[in-house]
Amino acid sequence: MKITHIDVFLVNVPLRAKFTTSQSSRTHQKSVVIEVHTDTGLTGLGNVDPSPKYSDESAEEIVSCLKDALIPAMLHKDPRNIVLCMAELDRKTAGHYHAKAALDMALHDLTAKELGIPVYRLLGGAVCESIPLVSSWIGHVPAQEAADMAIQHVEQGFRTLKIKVGKQIEEDIQRVRAVRKAVGADIQLRIDANEGYTPQQAIRAIKGFTPYGILYCEQPVSRDDWHGMAQVRKAVDVPVVADEAIVEPKDIIQAVEKEAADIVKLKVMKNGGLYRTGRMAWLAGVLGLKCVLGHGFTLGINSLSEIHLAASLPNIMMPIETTGMLKVVEDIISEPIHVKNGSVRLSQAPGFGVALDRKKLSRFSV
Ligand SMILES: [Mg+2]
Repeated sequence: MKITHIDVFLVNVPLRAKFTTSQSSRTHQKSVVIEVHTDTGLTGLGNVDPSPKYSDESAEEIVSCLKDALIPAMLHKDPRNIVLCMAELDRKTAGHYHAKAALDMALHDLTAKELGIPVYRLLGGAVCESIPLVSSWIGHVPAQEAADMAIQHVEQGFRTLKIKVGKQIEEDIQRVRAVRKAVGADIQLRIDANEGYTPQQAIRAIKGFTPYGILYCEQPVSRDDWHGMAQVRKAVDVPVVADEAIVEPKDIIQAVEKEAADIVKLKVMKNGGLYRTGRMAWLAGVLGLKCVLGHGFTLGINSLSEIHLAASLPNIMMPIETTGMLKVVEDIISEPIHVKNGSVRLSQAPGFGVALDRKKLSRFSV
């Protein structure tokens, strides 16, 4: 089997509501979708969903990198030889993990379809039959609004809520306090500052959140400030998660050497695909770190890539944080991902088990 051509689509999909973090505020998700074609007629799908300021590549830069450098290197290759294809992409250009992740997903989808098995089986099997999800809707909103949203999400079946912080410490603490008061003691709360604090601010904020029972605080300070992360970690009584700081395997080693994190956050897009992210999860486990998985702004194919990967990895903390498909008004895949009581059941369909919805793809294309 040989790759004959690869189509690239740039889409801009409206969100159900505006979402604000300490890094950006947005009403739309601009994403890249690819379709890999082969001489057998089989196709594979990939999709990445960059976030402004979080991602080091914009959607437009991902499209250029794919068209100018990565796709020419993939033509006439056997898509089933995923390790060789990924090595070829690394030889072609360093970094550009978002762009490489889109291709990696499509190669997994294609290979699994040819074998007639779901992607998680290609990855070695599944440790569970369904994957629980976090509700990650609570951005920088007033405390009462956050509490109302939290109640709604718990009623929908979510048992873990994620709350964005990292701007104004007092408002951040009020938001966390209001959510805890609204949902009671049994619901898990995860906090994400998206690099918004200085180390001193982070220590003050996290000490303010601690009485409300938070599971952890994610990326309290700048991704480059390993020393600051270590300072925060030593000063507070809740685990610290490194997210923006963890791109390559060497970053996991840094986190351990600098004693800067208890947990690492992985994403299929950020870390360059299923192949690479799975190995990073393994490395983190060997080094004694726990892993959280999942991007909060994923369209359908990227969502499924994280759901299938999570199913195949025994050391991922559940629930995963892949919830972008719930934030957009419509997805670009034919069958929407069915979330029931906050969980997604694994499908037996080959590959990721979905096709592109061409009408929606063209409606949201830019
Ligand atoms: Mg994060």
